[in-house]
Amino acid sequence: MNTNRRQFFKRSAGIFGVILSSPLILQTLFSSKAEAQKAEDCSKLPLVEPGKGMAISVNYFHKHSDMKKAELKTERQGVKWDQQNCKNCMLYVACGKKGADEIGKCAIFAGQAVKASGWCTTWSKKG
Ligand code: SF4
Repeated sequence: MNTNRRQFFKRSAGIFGVILSSPLILQTLFSSKAEAQKAEDCSKLPLVEPGKGMAISVNYFHKHSDMKKAELKTERQGVKWDQQNCKNCMLYVACGKKGADEIGKCAIFAGQAVKASGWCTTWSKKG
């Protein structure tokens, strides 16, 4: 990959990260989509794979203990980092189980499921 292309992808990822980290933009973009996702069973959907694709951009992990970046463990919208998880994120819609774990759909991971115990930097307090 040449340098210009690499820089383009780096800049695009940065801009996309800024958009995803703004609660107001998120609410506008995804609230109607999240509402439209009703709780149909999603247990057959593949789980998001931490460390791959979009999961890298938003630092998605299935549980807090896997997230090692101290600078990201910040309070958001008055909620301490260790209290933030997919289950209480405005983009999460519970829709089934994988084994003993509750899973749900997330508006930023189309066609995949996240764990209720998951977390990413796009977390936004459920209204
Ligand atoms: S914290 Fe929210 S935005 Fe991030 S993966 Fe979980 S449900 Fe999606």
